[in-house]
Amino acid sequence: MKFTRRDFIKSSFLLGGSLLLSPVFARAKQKKQEEWHPAYEKLEQEGKLAQRVKQAYDFFDSCQLCPRRCGVNRKKGEKGFCQAPVKPTIFDAHPHFGEEISLVGENGSGTIFFSNCNLRCIFCQNWPISHEGKGREVEDEELADMMVKLQKIGCHNINLVTPTHVMPNILNATRIALKKGLQLPLVYNTSGYERIEILQILDGIVDIYLPDMKYMDKDKAAKYSAGASDYPEVTMKAIIEMNRQVGELKIDERGIALRGLMIRHLVMPNHVAGTEKFVRWVAQTLPKSTYVNIMAQYRVEYKAFEYPEISRGITVQEFLEAMDWAKKYGLTNLDPHSMATKNIYHHRSN
Ligand code: SF4
Repeated sequence: MKFTRRDFIKSSFLLGGSLLLSPVFARAKQKKQEEWHPAYEKLEQEGKLAQRVKQAYDFFDSCQLCPRRCGVNRKKGEKGFCQAPVKPTIFDAHPHFGEEISLVGENGSGTIFFSNCNLRCIFCQNWPISHEGKGREVEDEELADMMVKLQKIGCHNINLVTPTHVMPNILNATRIALKKGLQLPLVYNTSGYERIEILQILDGIVDIYLPDMKYMDKDKAAKYSAGASDYPEVTMKAIIEMNRQVGELKIDERGIALRGLMIRHLVMPNHVAGTEKFVRWVAQTLPKSTYVNIMAQYRVEYKAFEYPEISRGITVQEFLEAMDWAKKYGLTNLDPHSMATKNIYHHRSN
């Protein structure tokens, strides 16, 4: 069973494959593939990767891996808010063609879906995985083998979906996989609800940060994401740190992402996501050329049916309005699929 987070993008990929050569990519700095090595390889050569693995694993003694800061001893089997055990639980790992086209390329993004989640949104589109923890516990060695296998079948990156609560395992597995020949960028595909102190452990290991920015309002964050009223403040700080580490998105001559920050923002009905505030914040805080994916594929899932304001999909007008705000505030590197969708919706609405 394959769960795609980006069904909409998958369908628009069929419409817009030629966008791989779009001017958006042409504007980005290109880097030759043969010169490129993953960040974690350099850290290993400097003898620092093993220290980072140990530093990360120590957090399991009194888990502080995310802003929930439960303080449970996961090595002894205690479980915190995310309900995650100390071993990573994996729902699935496969080449994924529904992600951003610079991650998908020709052969797919090597996506590993981790079960459990530290945010637990009531509209979660992956709720059987994130809320119910469906999946299989594996050792770090097996996780490493999955990474190497995804590389062998041609994937362009290792896309770690919901990685926060298993970050130590990911680091250990990456080190094992590196010794087995892993040379792909790690994509840290996160809700954005991250502690700066934890992100600093990832500095020099993660090449591509792919955070969400879900809401800009603390009351909405608390209402829809299990009391996480600090989500906007925490995530804005986290994204600034991610940008400090990896900077603007860089791609190779094939249009494949190698390093950089890619922010996702899902437009929600009735302005719940605070889209205007979000794009204004990006424009005022980060380079205007920051890669931003304004997404139209909100679906009513899980418990969203119980909240009237989010119990419908977004309208064409709501998406066009979101894209107009991005233009108004001067963002210059919007996801090509968002742009294609805007053009299609615009055409339909005229
Ligand atoms: S990762 Fe899980 S157990 Fe650890 S602090 Fe976050 S929610 Fe709590």
